[in-house]
Amino acid sequence: MTQSQEVFALAVVIALAGIALLVGLQRGHGRGGKGRTLPPQTPDARVDSGSESDFQEPPAGPGGGPTVDTLEPDVLGPPSPAPSIERPESATGRLQRLRARLARSNTVLGKGLLSLLSAGGLDDQAWEDVEDTLLSSDLGVEATQDLVDSLRTRVTVEGARDEDTVRGWLRQDLLKLVDLSMDRTIASSRVEGRPAVVMVVGVNGTGKTTTVGKLARVLVAQDKDVVLGAADTFRAAAADQLQTWGERVGVPTIRSDRDGADPASVAFDAVRAAVEMEADVVLIDTAGRLHNKVGLMDELGKLKRVVEKQSPIDEVLLVLDATTGQNGLRQAEVFAQVVNVTGIVLTKLDGTAKGGIVVAVQRKLGVPVKLVGLGEGPDDLAPFDPEAFVDALIS
Ligand code: GDP
Repeated sequence: MTQSQEVFALAVVIALAGIALLVGLQRGHGRGGKGRTLPPQTPDARVDSGSESDFQEPPAGPGGGPTVDTLEPDVLGPPSPAPSIERPESATGRLQRLRARLARSNTVLGKGLLSLLSAGGLDDQAWEDVEDTLLSSDLGVEATQDLVDSLRTRVTVEGARDEDTVRGWLRQDLLKLVDLSMDRTIASSRVEGRPAVVMVVGVNGTGKTTTVGKLARVLVAQDKDVVLGAADTFRAAAADQLQTWGERVGVPTIRSDRDGADPASVAFDAVRAAVEMEADVVLIDTAGRLHNKVGLMDELGKLKRVVEKQSPIDEVLLVLDATTGQNGLRQAEVFAQVVNVTGIVLTKLDGTAKGGIVVAVQRKLGVPVKLVGLGEGPDDLAPFDPEAFVDALIS
């Protein structure tokens, strides 16, 4: 080999090594989902008030605009030491793991009813006690009446009253009330070539932001590419809280750096980013200040209309705190007037013996409970499984 050939060969080797390094860096970025490239910096979203016609897309500028919690691709340096990305628990079986919590808090209902029903010689007073026990679980007047009527008929007709038989009847009747026929799936797969759009609404304090974070984990465990939108711009720290949830499982959060930024604008940007990233689903956290109904209607209504300029909304999940009883039901009614609620998330079921609220809220809104929160742990959110739920109640 001549000297010039040697120099040429060396140059080729160096060039190949350089290309290999670049490819390695590119691969090292992201969770490896399809199309997971980051969108360009999203525009500022400064429209804080006014009608939807105010909504516009001003040019990107420093400060205040929604941002992605990761760097832009063209300014990516060598990847920083990968933050340890957690592998969330898979959704199947969560309710099995958590059923002890449900059972623990509902033993009053289960045990109380069974002992009443199997005591024998049920007189009117005993039936009233059965009714009171059911009412105290927040089952609601109508459902309680249905259940008592059904049980009374059976006891009269069939006569048998050993505990196992009664447990079987109770199980059947409760399953009927919880309604096995409702579709409890959550929109989380691409629809017609675009990401599914899920809005999460509810009064602040119910566990809304936590639920969005936990739901992201449920979906990541199902290998979905998720994007979070921090459109609760009124509660200080809500965006940070959401971003932290996302980071733990490698999910990007679209947010504004400015408190009080226009939630509709952030939601719009989140959907756009999800489209550009070819994500499977975008979960939008919203503000839920129920200080006055008109304000809530305006805010949520606008957010919905602005998002819909870009994509249909596939799912609206209403988060309700199970411990708030009738108050929670009233909240549900207000939200249902503003948005088309498609599913309910009942949080804090671990802290209450009022599991009957599941039935009451489904009846009130005519939409299914899809998820239940059973603790403060990151994987303490489970798809609602009617059979496991009823079994836990009467175990
Ligand atoms: P937001 O204002 O509705 O967004 O409420 P957060 O998501 O900040 O939650 C309020 C509080 O409720 C936090 O302390 C959560 O840990 C707690 N929380 C949420 N879900 C559950 C649940 O299922 N069980 C229990 N025990 N606590 C919960």
